[in-house]
Amino acid sequence: MLLPSDTQNSGRRFGAEELDNLRQVLESGALNCTRGTFVNRLETKFAVDYGGPDWFCTAVTSGTAAIHCAVAALDLEPEDEIVTTAITDMGALAPILMQGCIPVFCDIDPLGYTSTAATIRAVLTPRTRAIVVTHLFGVPCDMDPILALAKERGLSIIEDVAQAPFAGYRGRLVGTLGDIGCFSLQQGKHMTCGEGGLVLTRDAGMARRMRLFHDKAWGYGDAEPDHYFLAPNYRMTELQGAVALAQLDRVSGVVADRRASAARFLQLVADVPGLAAQSFPSNSEPVFWKVVLRLDDAAFGADVRRVGALLKEKYGIVCAPRYVQKPAFECQIFQEKRTFGNSQWPLKGVAAPDPAAFPGTYEALNHMLVLPWNENYQAEHVHYIAAAVRATADYFRPEATARYGTT
Ligand SMILES: *Cc1c(COP(=O)(O)O)cnc(C)c1O
Repeated sequence: MLLPSDTQNSGRRFGAEELDNLRQVLESGALNCTRGTFVNRLETKFAVDYGGPDWFCTAVTSGTAAIHCAVAALDLEPEDEIVTTAITDMGALAPILMQGCIPVFCDIDPLGYTSTAATIRAVLTPRTRAIVVTHLFGVPCDMDPILALAKERGLSIIEDVAQAPFAGYRGRLVGTLGDIGCFSLQQGKHMTCGEGGLVLTRDAGMARRMRLFHDKAWGYGDAEPDHYFLAPNYRMTELQGAVALAQLDRVSGVVADRRASAARFLQLVADVPGLAAQSFPSNSEPVFWKVVLRLDDAAFGADVRRVGALLKEKYGIVCAPRYVQKPAFECQIFQEKRTFGNSQWPLKGVAAPDPAAFPGTYEALNHMLVLPWNENYQAEHVHYIAAAVRATADYFRPEATARYGTT
């Protein structure tokens, strides 16, 4: 069976509104956000709808750019430390280095795949200034203890909401809990215009700094504008804004449909031995960017690589065993400290993370089977994937019995 995929039309929701907005942009001839209205309307609508009347949003060119704006908004000193996790997108790590700061990796919960107050606390030093929390796969981090820790230590919190827009945590939306929320509008995310990003904050000072940072720090509208500090151009185009604005009206449907199909799927595979769904904090509502299963090798009869290979080859389910394969600190950029020329700055002299300090991270990767999920899955798709998982379990069951002595 061909499953709807976020790489093409089958798994995306574009319609008359996107086309109509695009036509208006092209007919106006103003493709730049400083001349057109769509990016501006996107920012205002998102700030109000997601945050509230006194919130601020700036639209940027990618989720990576959003994280970069957020880090820059903190106005840190070179070699200050920012705590983050090792199972994330490089777009959440590169901006830390580009601002001259040091990403310090913390471990994660092996069943929820997110950082916790305890894993963060374990890596704090006198140089720690901020924490980037990642609501991985659409599951909220347990924020209350993290917020308390940040308050206790005077740390800023950047929420990476790229995979979790509209996820709920104790009655509030993730992305509004810390100081700044960062969103991605990349092709594979819940709402998309191909590439794009959004930053959201209630703090007027940080909002101003991000607005400046995304546009060469030129003081638009000021009495005596100038280029105030070092900053790139991350302005979104009107073409992106036109599509993204229309997507805002679709995202609640996207989230509702993903939640319903994921709940149905997890019900259907609940009794398959050796499988467990990603855990999430009580009183939270994930948005299922992916559906992630934890696979117990002994009970299932095979490891995630073999299970993933069978699901791909026999059933055409493009899953990702071990997700990103290795913790970010094992990537070449960190191993060889390839940053600015041969300087290794700002990582020069920084000790490489000790794998022994990351039991949760390795445990998670070794057992994680990431299933592609999509708002356009119908009942037949959900049943197909569930049946494939069940058949795969049956296929390996004799091995579970023979090799591990379980039934
Ligand atoms: C997608 C993603 C990013 C980066 O977003 P881009 O738009 O691809 O730059 C950052 N963090 C996480 C967790 C992501 O999933």
